[in-house]
Amino acid sequence: MKKIKFLILILGLAGCSFQPYHKEARLMLGTIVEITCQDRAAITSAFEEIKKIETIANNFNPDSEISRLNAAGKIQASQDLYNMVRESLKYYRLSEGAFDITVAPLVNIWKEKIREFENKKSSPYQGEAGRGKSRGLTLPSESQIKRALSLVGSDKISLDDSTSSMSFTQSGMSIDLGAIAKGYAVDKAVRRLKESGVRSALVNAGGNVYCLGKKGSRKWRIGVRHPRKPAEIVFYLDLENQGAATSGDYEQFFILDKKRYSHIIDPKTGWPVDNNISSVTIIAPDAATSDGLSTTVFVLGKEKGLELAGKMDGVEVKIIEK
Ligand code: ADP
Ligand code: MG
Repeated sequence: MKKIKFLILILGLAGCSFQPYHKEARLMLGTIVEITCQDRAAITSAFEEIKKIETIANNFNPDSEISRLNAAGKIQASQDLYNMVRESLKYYRLSEGAFDITVAPLVNIWKEKIREFENKKSSPYQGEAGRGKSRGLTLPSESQIKRALSLVGSDKISLDDSTSSMSFTQSGMSIDLGAIAKGYAVDKAVRRLKESGVRSALVNAGGNVYCLGKKGSRKWRIGVRHPRKPAEIVFYLDLENQGAATSGDYEQFFILDKKRYSHIIDPKTGWPVDNNISSVTIIAPDAATSDGLSTTVFVLGKEKGLELAGKMDGVEVKIIEK
């Protein structure tokens, strides 16, 4: 009896022909993008999809589609740009303006401040190290914020579904897809993997992930970092055919006079979000939803954020408070 069981086990193993997983990482979309699956050629092809989205949504490249839209105030958009803007307007409406891609002028101001701070930190001539004000760092002026705020409001984006064209109804406006492009790109890559016949994969664009199928007999296991102790994992997510993303105040920020200023902006005030949240993790049926919603809930705060996410199918929220 024992012998027969042993034989069946051996036959079973031979039948499943285990193939090793390959992981490839590339610098894209301003972050590290990793794709893990058992088919190398499929990985290469999936990266092409991510590259396409980067080419469209990169604000730093003056030739990108988004830069051309921002410069001209109108464009005959590619399907991908159109989809990303459409999706963003959905979150704008659902959140009553907390998620708003027209925050771009404010994002520019605050990201410039974050850069200034980073430069000071790494300067060898910083004198009294690490203490904001003493190193000459100042906050943006109220008039600067006011000017930028006057350009904000996604209701001033006009879309024409029949021609995929879009335009701004106020001159000087601009958009920033930083809160949704990574999730959207992950979904595109996953679609390409599926077309290549892949049934098990992990795509991770700087913490915006999608887990396709399982890894062997188990779900994919994703660790979420502690917002204040980068070496520590606070919890694990076990995912199968699901996306997940975390928005936090701990990757791009500066501290001045003991106050933290991050890269997620409250479009109502023009200032970085100032609530009790350090990070929001969203699990959702796709990566674009988890990306868009994690930023949205971060801005909305716990009560309103949970209320909104509670209305959406297949969505789970994990909030870490300060
Ligand atoms: P990350 O890009 O760091 O993973 P998020 O997905 O939360 O984090 O996106 C933050 C980015 O979204 C910012 O860097 C900025 O480009 C943009 N952004 C900031 N505030 C808002 C907002 N209220 N609505 C939409 N986009 C925003
Ligand atoms: Mg996001």
